Amino acid sequence: MRPLPPRPESGAPPGSAPVPLRAAWRRTLAGTLVLLAVALLLGLAIGQPAWTLAAAALALLAWHGGRLHRVLADIDAHRVGPPQRGGKGVWNALAGLLRRDRAEMRARKRRLIDLLRAYRAAADALPDAVVVVDRNTQRILWFNRASTALLGLSRPRDRGAPVVERLQPLPLARWLAAGRNAEPMHDARSPVDERVRLDLRLVPYSEDYWLLVARDVSKLLHLEQMRQDFVANVSHELRTPLTVVHGYLDMLDPEDMPEWQPMLEEMRRQSQRMTRLVEDLLTLSRLEARDSLPEETVAMAPMLAALRREAEAYSQGRHEIEVQDLAGCDLAGSGQELHSAFSNLVTNAVRYTPTGGRITIRFAREPGGGAVLSVQDTGQGIPEAHLPRLTERFYRVSGSRSRESGGTGLGLSIVKHVLGLHQARLEVDSTVGQGSTFSCHFGPERVRARHDGEADPPAVRQASH
Ligand code: ADP
Repeated sequence: MRPLPPRPESGAPPGSAPVPLRAAWRRTLAGTLVLLAVALLLGLAIGQPAWTLAAAALALLAWHGGRLHRVLADIDAHRVGPPQRGGKGVWNALAGLLRRDRAEMRARKRRLIDLLRAYRAAADALPDAVVVVDRNTQRILWFNRASTALLGLSRPRDRGAPVVERLQPLPLARWLAAGRNAEPMHDARSPVDERVRLDLRLVPYSEDYWLLVARDVSKLLHLEQMRQDFVANVSHELRTPLTVVHGYLDMLDPEDMPEWQPMLEEMRRQSQRMTRLVEDLLTLSRLEARDSLPEETVAMAPMLAALRREAEAYSQGRHEIEVQDLAGCDLAGSGQELHSAFSNLVTNAVRYTPTGGRITIRFAREPGGGAVLSVQDTGQGIPEAHLPRLTERFYRVSGSRSRESGGTGLGLSIVKHVLGLHQARLEVDSTVGQGSTFSCHFGPERVRARHDGEADPPAVRQASH
């Protein structure tokens, strides 16, 4: 940014300091009095003092009128006349003040223009595309240099052009309509080059203007793709040797060699854990690689019955398990993936709830027309500090307990991904020592009428111990 010139003390040009006002008034009054006194003396001398006084007053009036006319004409023409030689009266003082104000205004304008230029130069030098959009007309007001490379905008052609039309095929119309609530678009293809991937953000920085910021994230996304491929390939490669190890372990009968029994059992447990880990990693990779899932109507009554069966089998009678089907509707989505997500929540509830606890699986409608499936337990609960990171891969509140109970540390990650593909969200509510509730919230667009014709939400339909 260019440094701004130092601000002068006063904008008035040197040598044109305004005449001090009080002295100017004194001089003007003195001049007037002298003129009138001379006129009076002259009048007395010729015996017509009233006439000479009237003539002098008229002359004064005409002179002041002339000066007023000149000053007004100068202001009107945005010009201030040079100071009159020897003139030190009020008119010169007025002209001096006008000159000073004008010079100050010019200096201020220059400073503002310099500041504006400096900001523009900074915005122009940004590596991200920045486009200023008029919020009401949705037309482009200004854009920086990077907008040419990333968005294909060019000057002067696109100044004042409608932004949605100009940035086609980017899907901006609905996005702009959301205004302040517009979620960033993390992966949009550049209108200039399909291979360039953009992260688009809308910043409504004032009532009238929006800032559209586009960042080139091609490299980042490429790295992310490499990471996903790496994890998927490693998991895939591990599958075969694990199957072989598993097979040989199964062939070994501990009864043939009792002294090896504890070791064999441990080896089996660990190889099963590794298999689960590989399967979960593969599931995650599969989910990450997709933008959407095949859609079907997922019948929720059989889904809830299956979840109950699984919970009971996993719990082995150690917990009280209740299923409440209050929604009376089904969901649209992938039955297989939704089952895997719900099942993860149910097995977690069983694993992290001590014997004698209660687990409630509840499917209900929500006020906005959506539906929620929640799994509530009376288990150990989760300290609040851990809640924001719970869905990260391999994040565990208590590592040893998770591993002992057969956890891979990937369950909630899978849940989050499955819900994301259904535009649903996971909410976790937990109190240490009292229990946790994991709720999957589905929007109204995911709700389907139930096929068996049950329109009204039935009361608690299944409860078992
Ligand atoms: P894990 O396989 O370790 O259970 P998850 O991703 O399913 O992995 O869960 C992450 C962590 O969240 C767990 O390690 C556990 O600490 C915590 N957690 C998940 N569900 C519950 C629950 N119902 N009650 C208490 N803690 C839970």
